[in-house]
Amino acid sequence: MSHAAEAARRRTFAIISHPDAGKTTLTENLLLAGGAIRAAGEVAARGEARRTTSDWMKIERDRGISVSASVMTFEFEDLIFNLLDTPGHEDFSEDTYRTLTAADCAVMVLDAAKGIEPQTLKLFEVCRLRDIPIVTFINKMDREAQDPIALLDEVQEKLQLDTAPLYWPAASGQRFSGMIDLATKELIQFERRPGEAPKIGAAPRIAGDEATLQANLDESVYGELAEGMEMATGLLPEFDKEAFLGGHMTPVVFGSALRHFGVLELLRTLHAYAPPPRDQKAEKKGEPVTIHAADNTVSGFVFKIQANMDPNHRDRVAFLRLCSGEFKRGMRLKTAGGKQLNIHNPMMFLAQDREIAETAYAGDVIGVPNHGQLRVGDSLSENGDIKFAGIPNFAPELLRRARVKDPMKAKHLRKALESLAEEGVTQLFKPSIGSDMIVGAVGQLQFEVMIERVAAEYNLEVVFEPAPYNVARWLSCDDPKVLEAFLDKNKSSSGTDLDDAPVYLAKNAWDVGYAQEKNPDIRFTATKERA
Ligand code: GDP
Repeated sequence: MSHAAEAARRRTFAIISHPDAGKTTLTENLLLAGGAIRAAGEVAARGEARRTTSDWMKIERDRGISVSASVMTFEFEDLIFNLLDTPGHEDFSEDTYRTLTAADCAVMVLDAAKGIEPQTLKLFEVCRLRDIPIVTFINKMDREAQDPIALLDEVQEKLQLDTAPLYWPAASGQRFSGMIDLATKELIQFERRPGEAPKIGAAPRIAGDEATLQANLDESVYGELAEGMEMATGLLPEFDKEAFLGGHMTPVVFGSALRHFGVLELLRTLHAYAPPPRDQKAEKKGEPVTIHAADNTVSGFVFKIQANMDPNHRDRVAFLRLCSGEFKRGMRLKTAGGKQLNIHNPMMFLAQDREIAETAYAGDVIGVPNHGQLRVGDSLSENGDIKFAGIPNFAPELLRRARVKDPMKAKHLRKALESLAEEGVTQLFKPSIGSDMIVGAVGQLQFEVMIERVAAEYNLEVVFEPAPYNVARWLSCDDPKVLEAFLDKNKSSSGTDLDDAPVYLAKNAWDVGYAQEKNPDIRFTATKERA
């Protein structure tokens, strides 16, 4: 198969959801439905084993949350799916945002009783920035759910996204009886199997004519189903693939991830409609170009760095999303900044195992072991002349001054913090005056992870104290002289980030607004596209 044909059968997607909506359960059941794993316990068992091998993940274990994102590859029918796992905890949303830049499609999981929750909304907005098409899975139908019409209304209203149900549920909770496949009009039956593990594979289907449904469904369930379907087909638009691919319409599947119901239907929906690897905007020798998956030259970008997958080594793994060409093991790739890497041991992540990748194509994600040469946002290509746009850094919402208990070790601490900032775990700012180290994070939990990691990996005891600043904004200006003059005048409230880019460090948002008003030529931005 040509590399273009290989790329064309890749489907790279992520799951977005609010914590507890069922992302982990759905992931596991998608892998089961795709035949990538055999029993539901196996993902958890492997997760357990992996956790015990890495001490710094103690927090993760204690709190039962997953801190790092990874990728799971599985084959379903003629397609290869790459499921990018995103951390669910809200403190790690920046990591999630970056992972979404590597996805071509997303599954939005909603809890049928709760609808759109805050984290769903935030993540959706990131998808919208890139017009990533979204498939909606309304989960937990085996529990008492909101009226499905109301749920779809909420999606329409809060996300400005047209909804096109491909299935329609027959009641919910104790009375949940399955869903009608609106294409074939058959009823897919939900089998209650109390005390038993759910059956993997296709659920039974019966004809959806009135007589058969009435014979097989509880009277009240039938009434509700008939009325709901009439409203849904009357009120809601039909599914339109173009509108979906443009990010304006979402097909909707109902189900229960825990009971393995609707999961195969979700996978079939992805199989039918999820797009192959997208075109990517980039720069080549300063000129804007579009990179196509079928292009011959190998290119990709790093969207995530993970340290210590093997606790015995200091190595890091950079997750590289390939955008074009046929990657071969041993290939030499260059960053846009001129660094060269011979990639001898690229990792591929199967559902349960890590393997060496001999070849990989656009849409695939490979793990590139390195000693710190690679950073989040780096572009890699055969000639080092392609630079992809758009891996954002977000202004941290919490700033802390870092101090080491033994003052003789301040230099060591700076190195440790720099290295963690390079991974993209946190951000490090250096005020223009003094020698403070200001660490920025999206959530409190990141500081706790850092304390553990700095202790485990660098043998240092770090303390995070309140900082004199609470807000950081990146500064830019068309006229470098104006920016220079501003920085000169505001030494006590400015500094630089890890890449020496100027930042404004303020006590509060009001200060930022005031400075912005006084300096209309200067841009104060809450995101920075990585250099
Ligand atoms: P995550 O935080 O989004 O990864 O959510 P989990 O997959 O960990 O699920 C959160 C809780 O909801 C767990 O207790 C699951 O067992 C439960 N859960 C997930 N899917 C379903 C479902 O379809 N039905 C029911 N009743 N519970 C579910």
